[in-house]
Amino acid sequence: MNLMVSFYIVNRHGLFIIGNMTNLVASSGTWGQIKSKLVKRSEFGDCLTLRCSVHGTQTRVKNAGDFSKVPEGGCTLLCGGALPCGHKCKAVCHVKNIEQLHQETKCLQPCARTCVRGHNCKGKCFSPCQACTTTVEQVLRCGHSSQVKCHDYNLNARCSQLVEKHLACGHKAEMKCYEDKSLYICTVSVVKKLSCGHEKSNVECHKKTSTISCEKLVMKKNIYCGHPMELKCHVDPAYVRVACQVVVTKKFSLCGHEVKSMY
Ligand SMILES: [Zn+2]
Ligand SMILES: [Zn+2]
Ligand SMILES: [Zn+2]
Ligand SMILES: [Zn+2]
Ligand SMILES: [Zn+2]
Ligand SMILES: [Zn+2]
Ligand SMILES: [Zn+2]
Ligand SMILES: [Zn+2]
Repeated sequence: MNLMVSFYIVNRHGLFIIGNMTNLVASSGTWGQIKSKLVKRSEFGDCLTLRCSVHGTQTRVKNAGDFSKVPEGGCTLLCGGALPCGHKCKAVCHVKNIEQLHQETKCLQPCARTCVRGHNCKGKCFSPCQACTTTVEQVLRCGHSSQVKCHDYNLNARCSQLVEKHLACGHKAEMKCYEDKSLYICTVSVVKKLSCGHEKSNVECHKKTSTISCEKLVMKKNIYCGHPMELKCHVDPAYVRVACQVVVTKKFSLCGHEVKSMY
């Protein structure tokens, strides 16, 4: 097969005719005349040389399949043009609406931006940067340090390190660094002296003596009979009515006989 190429340029536009010249000349005398004119002007050949307007690459096209060598009209090289983000365009060479296409390109290359501490973003260029998860050391005002994610870095953070603190009661307690020791509830078991003068053991340190009932058994006076009775120290005898256990001798007034009775 021989390929005929003819072109004439008007305002940078050309007309190319592709076909089998042998067949055309054999079928019509006019094609014979056209052929001799084209050959004289060196406008006849067996292939078409395309030149990429971006890279200057030349591609020879001889049959229809050869056009696949220039899929987007330019050449087979990567475009390499500058995208708005600063990366080079990695698409196959394209020649139409270059600027517009570059504006619309979703750049899949690694993001070149950094966080406020200079850590590289791990995302893709087109997507907005996510919070930085690089581990950094954070030294708080209390002097304790901890490992935190970059975006969690906060010098005013509450320090949750466990420390031993001395309480006002004299005991020591382990609590988080930020916790106020004056609010700490001391549960150490102690002996407390109550307002009645008795001591009570096994009391949690934080308990106020005014809230503790004295369980010590003491002798109180039964207000109904005047005899002594055993009651818990905190119990008011005015509020208890117990049978008096004291044995007394009673005398019947009519007969004068005596009887022993508990009440
Ligand atoms: Zn090209
Ligand atoms: Zn990019
Ligand atoms: Zn491009
Ligand atoms: Zn960071
Ligand atoms: Zn990013
Ligand atoms: Zn601390
Ligand atoms: Zn205590
Ligand atoms: Zn008491």
